[in-house]
Amino acid sequence: MIDLFDTAARAAGALAVEVRGDALRLEGDAARHGLGAVQASQRFTELAACAAPGDRSLLSALSDPARIDARVRLIGEDGRLRYVRLIGGPEEGGIWRGLILPAGASPDGGLAALDLETALRQALKDGAVIAHHQPVIALVDRRLAGFEALARWERPDGSALGPDVFMGVAADHGLIGAIGDAVRSCAARDASAWRIARPDAKTLFVAANATASELCAPDFADRLIDEVRNAGLPAHAFKLEISETEVMRDPDAAEAAMKALRKAGFSLVLDDFGTGYSSLSRLDRFPFDTVKIDQYFTRLAETDPSARTIISGVVRIARSYAMTIVAEGIETPAAAELCTELGCDYGQGFRYAQALTPEDAADAVVSGIEGRFGAA
Ligand code: C2E
Ligand code: MG
Ligand code: MG
Repeated sequence: MIDLFDTAARAAGALAVEVRGDALRLEGDAARHGLGAVQASQRFTELAACAAPGDRSLLSALSDPARIDARVRLIGEDGRLRYVRLIGGPEEGGIWRGLILPAGASPDGGLAALDLETALRQALKDGAVIAHHQPVIALVDRRLAGFEALARWERPDGSALGPDVFMGVAADHGLIGAIGDAVRSCAARDASAWRIARPDAKTLFVAANATASELCAPDFADRLIDEVRNAGLPAHAFKLEISETEVMRDPDAAEAAMKALRKAGFSLVLDDFGTGYSSLSRLDRFPFDTVKIDQYFTRLAETDPSARTIISGVVRIARSYAMTIVAEGIETPAAAELCTELGCDYGQGFRYAQALTPEDAADAVVSGIEGRFGAA
């Protein structure tokens, strides 16, 4: 049927596809892709109906006058999700020809992942993915210094899901940027509101996370600068956190975006430091002004002398680069004391508070958190 469909493609489990108008022909072992019913029905619209919601537009690209080469998720007759590669292009006479090849593993729990993905897309549309804010404390005087904005998916029952539940699915389906945009937008807006609610809260900062891939997108820095400006927040009150393990992936693009942000007045935080085996001097090319010591070391500090040695080493080197130091994951008063003694400037952790809803964070700005720390 199709010239492309040679022995090698057949051996690889490929299906030949031909689309004429709405008529679809598949050749090969369609059952292997869970597509037996589609083959029998021979309607293109039924192939599209088998695709996961986010991929339907990819299949409609079959009618575009261009070649496509796309990873598409199909739901087989057994209800399991399959990743396939759809490759081919238009031929004369309004015919489209190509191949469906297996692409990657079809994970167990595919349908559950698909449900989660569909619900997450809807939550993003509905504005249900927002920032909760974890207090950051100035260790020397236990003053509330700022907050880290962390992604939370608010559920109709009032509970909130953390990134551990949805970041994996978000990463698989290209939703990290949409989540990050939503969280950074909430962060800028909420921080601006705190400053209006309490004029002496003008020293408060808000920090939010971005992946290195987001940072390296060509318009990222400009969009963030606009977002923060439009929220009425001064750039110096916004800190962008980038994880150590990621920053070296595309160092040139990362460096350019960081320089643009620093020039606009933003602060840049090297997050989770100590987990990625890089030395601060290797990271010297990036204009970070703050380093966040990973909670792994903070939590060990009370019991493990080598964790304390690592923390004081990081503090010494960070100081020589004139960087501010934050200890993450402070869970006990003793850990807070140790981190203060070892020279950390700020602390963040359950000893002070978990991430607070925007309403509770606004209350904390005005009245502090009873028995733990005073408000700014
Ligand atoms: P992170 O940026 O290092 O944030 C700190 C994480 O440690 C948060 O987890 C926080 O709740 C948790 N944590 C803080 N203090 C303590 C403590 O004393 N003990 C323990 N056990 N944990 C503590 P969370 O909110 O689950 O976030 C996990 C990670 O997800 C974040 O790590 C960050 O890498 C990522 N993330 C969160 N929000 C976003 C976002 O908007 N965009 C991106 N790209 N990543 C995000
Ligand atoms: Mg962070
Ligand atoms: Mg961290």
